[in-house]
Amino acid sequence: MPLAGASGAAVPAADWVVLLLSPWALALFGLCVGSFLNVVVHRLPMMYMRGWWAFDIAEFALSDKRSWRSAFGARAEPPRELAAAASAVHRQIEASTPLSLARPRSRCPHCGHTLRASENIPILSWLALRGRCSACKAPIGLRYPLVEGATALLFALVALVHGASWQTLIGCIAVALLVAMALIDLDYTLLPDSLTIPLVVIGLIAAAAGVSIVPWRDAAIGALAGYGVLWALGATWAVLFRKPNAMAEGDMKMLAGLGALLGWQALPGILLVSAGVGSVIGIGLIAFRQHRRETPIPFGPYLALAGLAALLMRERFVTLAEDMLPFLGG
Ligand SMILES: [Zn+2]
Repeated sequence: MPLAGASGAAVPAADWVVLLLSPWALALFGLCVGSFLNVVVHRLPMMYMRGWWAFDIAEFALSDKRSWRSAFGARAEPPRELAAAASAVHRQIEASTPLSLARPRSRCPHCGHTLRASENIPILSWLALRGRCSACKAPIGLRYPLVEGATALLFALVALVHGASWQTLIGCIAVALLVAMALIDLDYTLLPDSLTIPLVVIGLIAAAAGVSIVPWRDAAIGALAGYGVLWALGATWAVLFRKPNAMAEGDMKMLAGLGALLGWQALPGILLVSAGVGSVIGIGLIAFRQHRRETPIPFGPYLALAGLAALLMRERFVTLAEDMLPFLGG
């Protein structure tokens, strides 16, 4: 099978590449990536929030007398409580185990039991343990095996659609980033830069290198348009209703990433589908009183769903937009 770029230049792929990029091999690899994504979804928000406490709050309060004075007047003195709160934050951070994606090893959030290698096998361990921690018997969420299974399925689908090509490799990276974004936004209404920016960068680099499904010009316009459209929608809303911009910057960066990956032509379809699915589920949640009307509903999970669908059937998304917005068809 050829390794084809957007330019159409086909290079025959070696047998081992074809094997590694086959749906079955990628499904197996996807299980392991899904297992890692469970760790990312759990730890990345913790790391971000520790960072906020440490720097945005503590450092600022401790060190920045000047900014206090520029805000409140040349004679204003920062209150002592602020310094006390800042040192309390510092003490807490120093007392906590340092956290990264790799360390410490995975453990039960209830009792701290460190998982043995045999308890860390995607899906199988969850089934063998019947969804309970081996030490304290606390239930382990069904979400863990579901994320592993979904990642495996998506990896296999990307391989089926794009074959043994660069697009499959890039597509799988995008799947991993989008799944992590969707879940973190669902849990914390947060889209970390460390996930959204790589999607933009990978989309642009792949297009510039000629190995994306879209030419570099479409990818570059896609990145700018993805960010700009949501910014403009939010700004219009803010002016019309005299409210703060309802669109979070994370959503703008995420749509910029999808634009870089799939080209600007896919953006209207992605927006239509994500807004459509989002409204149906949002209205459903409000109707069944699962969600208060005032609390913000994260948009990231719907963008991720539409983005994943567009990754697998880009042409449908492009024609969908052309049918609904005829001026795009030209
Ligand atoms: Zn436990």
